[in-house]
Amino acid sequence: MGRLEGKIAIVTGAGSGIGRASAALFAAEGAKVVAVDLSTDGLQETAEIIEKAGNTCQTISADISSADAVEEMVSSTVSSLGGLDIVYANAGISGGAVPLLEQDVDLWQKVLAVNLIGPFLAIKYATPHMLKQGKGSIICTASVAGLRANAGGAAYSASKAGVISLVQNAANQFFGSGIRFNAICPGLIETGMTQPIFDGARSRGREDRIGQLNPTGRYGNPIEIANAALFLASDEASYVNGQALPVDGGLSSTLPFVPKKP
Ligand code: NAP
Repeated sequence: MGRLEGKIAIVTGAGSGIGRASAALFAAEGAKVVAVDLSTDGLQETAEIIEKAGNTCQTISADISSADAVEEMVSSTVSSLGGLDIVYANAGISGGAVPLLEQDVDLWQKVLAVNLIGPFLAIKYATPHMLKQGKGSIICTASVAGLRANAGGAAYSASKAGVISLVQNAANQFFGSGIRFNAICPGLIETGMTQPIFDGARSRGREDRIGQLNPTGRYGNPIEIANAALFLASDEASYVNGQALPVDGGLSSTLPFVPKKP
């Protein structure tokens, strides 16, 4: 029996990277999955991957920073599948590598709208359904950038720090409700968002340098974040609530250091 057998799950940002890997893993573990993204092409590719593995998913093209769209995403899932057990609010944007003093209000509003208000809306509209069931798991993708500086632009980092605070606040507001709210803080993962970093390093023949700053000594893959999301989504994490889990090869555990040459 799959670890999510019989559960109904929404995964956002499922047209690429971490969301795609998570949607595929959740479906493989028995969940009825609704994959959500802006991009219909990306969603179609995700659906094909899931079908090739012998599973199915529904797809919804929606902007997760729009309150109306998120309300509709949740209500259509509940009415078509009969409930909602898991939401993985994962969609995000980087906002680019713009120096702080060159960032403007538009950039901050855009980054906060997708990365922080998006997860807030997922919680706002999913929680009432889960309260009726007396159980549920809501997971949001934060980042190591929400824990420390230098892993993204200032707006991105602030948005991810906000996500960590959001799950802590939600866990405490819905005290004793049976709903768990947690965040994952990925380190450097190869996805659409980070492709320019990987392409740049490879074109200079420096792939071995990517991810060298963490004690595991390498970059991560989307499935390694999906595995953490699967744990938090499943009943195995029944006593994990209000936490921000770094999945970063140990990056956030250290002060800056120069690795010794072997
Ligand atoms: P990705 O491959 O770019 O996937 C992100 C997906 O989110 C894309 O398919 C994107 O669609 C979608 N999206 C963006 N804005 C949206 C919106 N308003 N509504 C609906 N969907 C939207 O990047 P990823 O690395 O998997 O990112 C997933 C999450 O992990 C993000 O929250 C990111 O901040 C976080 N994260 C990533 C890393 C990393 O190293 N990759 C590290 C820490 C945290 P379009 O492509 O159509 O815009």
